[in-house]
Amino acid sequence: GGAEAADERVTPLMAQYIEIKAANPDCLLFYRMGDFYEMFFEDAEIASRALGIALTKRGKHKGADIPMAGVPVERAGDYLQRLIAQGFRVAVCEQTEDPAEARKRGSKSVVKRDVIRLVTPGTITEEQLLDSRRNNWLLAVARARPSSGDAASYGLAWADISTGAFHVAEVGAGRLSAEVARLDPGEIVLSDALYSDAELAAFWREQRAVTPLGRDAFDAMTAERRLSAFFGVATPEAFGAFSRLELTAAAAIATYVERTQLGQRPPLAPPQREALAETMAIDAATRVNLELLRALSGARQGSLIAAIDRTVTAAGARLLADRLSSPLADPAAINARLDAVGWAVADGDLRLKLRGALESAPDIERALARLALGRGGPRDLAALARGLTVAAELAEQVAAAAPPAEIAAAVRDLAAPDPALAAAIMAALADELPLLKRDGGFVRPGYDPDLDGLRRLSEDSRKVIAETQARYAEETGVKSLKVRHNAQLGYVVEVAAQHGDKLLGPPFNATFMHRQTLAGALRFSTVELSELESRIATAAERALAIELAIFERLVARVQAEGDAIKAAARALAVLDVTAALATLAAAEDWTRPVVDSSLAFRVEGGRHPVVEQALRRGGGPFVANDCDLSPPTPAGEAGRIWLVTGPNMAGKSTFLRQNALIAVLAQVGAFVPAKRAHVGVIDRLFSRVGAADDLARGRSTFMVEMVETAAILNQSGPRALVILDEIGRGTATFDGLSIAWASLEHLHETNRCRALFATHFHELTALSARLTRLTNATVRVKEWHGEVIFLHEVAEGVADRSYGIQVAKLAGLPPSVVARAKTVLAELEKGDRGAPIHRLADDLPLFAAVRPKSAEPEAKAAPDPVAELLAALDPDDMTPKAALEALYRLKTAA
Ligand code: ADP
Repeated sequence: GGAEAADERVTPLMAQYIEIKAANPDCLLFYRMGDFYEMFFEDAEIASRALGIALTKRGKHKGADIPMAGVPVERAGDYLQRLIAQGFRVAVCEQTEDPAEARKRGSKSVVKRDVIRLVTPGTITEEQLLDSRRNNWLLAVARARPSSGDAASYGLAWADISTGAFHVAEVGAGRLSAEVARLDPGEIVLSDALYSDAELAAFWREQRAVTPLGRDAFDAMTAERRLSAFFGVATPEAFGAFSRLELTAAAAIATYVERTQLGQRPPLAPPQREALAETMAIDAATRVNLELLRALSGARQGSLIAAIDRTVTAAGARLLADRLSSPLADPAAINARLDAVGWAVADGDLRLKLRGALESAPDIERALARLALGRGGPRDLAALARGLTVAAELAEQVAAAAPPAEIAAAVRDLAAPDPALAAAIMAALADELPLLKRDGGFVRPGYDPDLDGLRRLSEDSRKVIAETQARYAEETGVKSLKVRHNAQLGYVVEVAAQHGDKLLGPPFNATFMHRQTLAGALRFSTVELSELESRIATAAERALAIELAIFERLVARVQAEGDAIKAAARALAVLDVTAALATLAAAEDWTRPVVDSSLAFRVEGGRHPVVEQALRRGGGPFVANDCDLSPPTPAGEAGRIWLVTGPNMAGKSTFLRQNALIAVLAQVGAFVPAKRAHVGVIDRLFSRVGAADDLARGRSTFMVEMVETAAILNQSGPRALVILDEIGRGTATFDGLSIAWASLEHLHETNRCRALFATHFHELTALSARLTRLTNATVRVKEWHGEVIFLHEVAEGVADRSYGIQVAKLAGLPPSVVARAKTVLAELEKGDRGAPIHRLADDLPLFAAVRPKSAEPEAKAAPDPVAELLAALDPDDMTPKAALEALYRLKTAA
């Protein structure tokens, strides 16, 4: 019927929506309508659930209500952040013409709209969407088809479009996961083929956001062309020599950035090749285990970076996090950084001055990126100018302080941007700035005469009108003449009817044009008033246009200086990190490590930075410990392994990790928490903890542990440092012992690397007789009146016993259980581990409890308050009242 046909009609607006949505099927569509981004249909339902916003409806489509949900444009940033964090991608669709244009085309016509940007986890630039202290990497992974038998290799390219950093590298299959772990990218793009590779499926699933792209993005044949086009150069060789795989990955980044930014080219620096051989390889499990950037809880609190970060700028914090994720492996580069930190440690005044200046320096990298993407506002310009001013001032101060090479290079970069730029921005911008340029009012009064005139006009319009009215009244002699505003006529001169004739006749009829006669009054217009009117009406608009033009001129100048600004931003970050590490070293009494290409690893008086700081907040002093894994003879080709035993809670894990952290810090180019340290560079660092309990976490945990142990035994060479904590404890005793035993032998004989190996299998200590580079060490405890006292002292030798039972007692196990455990232990220690079980099982306390008292030999060792009460009673000697009281006592004791 007719009604149905009407329902089938699709409104032009919906038709446009459906078309745009169809072109972006994998995104939620933010469809701009006035002051809102609206979502329709399924998008509305998803967004309403994900954001907790109201689900409403708007009109009908094919006879059914159209679900709708919207977010205000002003607060879109918050909502975007929450959607991105939940793994969604968002297409932002804006009105691309003035609604007036659409109205001119006809009443049914809809405003033109277009998607101007795809927001994905790896391509965000908004301040509120980003963690200012970390880089947000977009990583592209390209794989080369291995020619038969060869292992695959991978081209990596990673860019942070919020700062412009762009790097490439090529890695072998063995290092892929360590590099991905190091970069910890916000988003990974790869080819469909690589995405569906069965061997890597589980690995991709562990990553935060992985976006497969069609073949064209990873086409090696067109890579060079796409990359050149992106940068507007003839050939990417302009930037240096890259391998084909590196080019492919870099071109994929360029293509994906263009696709998501839709033609807006963010100010990416030309790709820089990173020589991975010069960094320490640290795989994902080791990073987690050592809590470098995040604690096991996932929070920053409790991590190494939280304990050492004394930077005062966001860019400095990002650089520190980057450095901590990729310690160097080249002694010369490490020592250059150490020279810089040492220079800042030596001069406390300089350090204070540096940090004071840096504190006032805004985040110019990200401001620059937003401006170049057309997403910047007046405050970004001001931030940039302030940052550049600080940079120029610092350049002078630092140059005068005899800086070492790394700092001298930074000083040159600080002075690189044209000093006139900051001055030009400061001169143009007002003191108080709006967030958005379209709000206007950001250009300083007195900067542009036209703008000032326009502003005066709109601000002073009342005054101008009043002046005009007074002048007309005087000229005509009609004292009661008024200038009024009328909706149809605009500004008009109004006089009472009795004065009308005067204005209708000469000479005034030349100026005053009669427009309207009312009951008691006549209205006239004048050329002057209508000009004033249109000037006032357009003044605000024209003022904004002038402001925007000034803004764009300044942005163009900023972009022209883009590379110099980026270099200066980077130099500020270097200064910040250097001063921060020096401040840390001075405050915490850290020391400069000796770093060279030997195989030494010798730490005197080492501490765990995180545990030490935690103990300081209550818990007593941290006990410093030595560690020496250097080869037994100076010319030795292999370092030592320390086998660390000691009871639970003695401090084994802390000791192991503190040495790994000292190695990381030393190779980052930081001072270290020790009295003295000598580190021969480490090329790979491994750290693993055995699964705590197989039962609670499922058998696969043990499997994971073994897979990881296998990786270590297969990959460690003489330059590796391996930390193994209680490997094998998650399985049956004999299995665990055998695995730990065999692994230890393999590390010693085959890997020949430096290692720390903590275990509760005391049997292993016997191996030191046979393995020449194996040293037994133990964390000492003292026993005092049957209680253990943890000394946290690591000393050569073997723990005499495990003290596990004393620890259990400290933990609050019921006294009966502690006593029983002592009995069992004594039996176990008498013979081998298997035989006594049968004997002990015979008199398990469980059965003992239901047996007659006489058959309960262990009862005294496990005092039971009820039993004790009962034993003290003599029923023959009790009055009924006493018996009743005894019953009550028994009841409360049970
Ligand atoms: P284990 O690995 O032997 O079970 P942990 O290394 O976990 O022991 O240490 C247990 C606790 O002992 C730590 O949480 C810390 O509070 C304390 N501790 C460890 N090492 C030290 C030390 N060197 N000085 C002071 N306290 C320490």
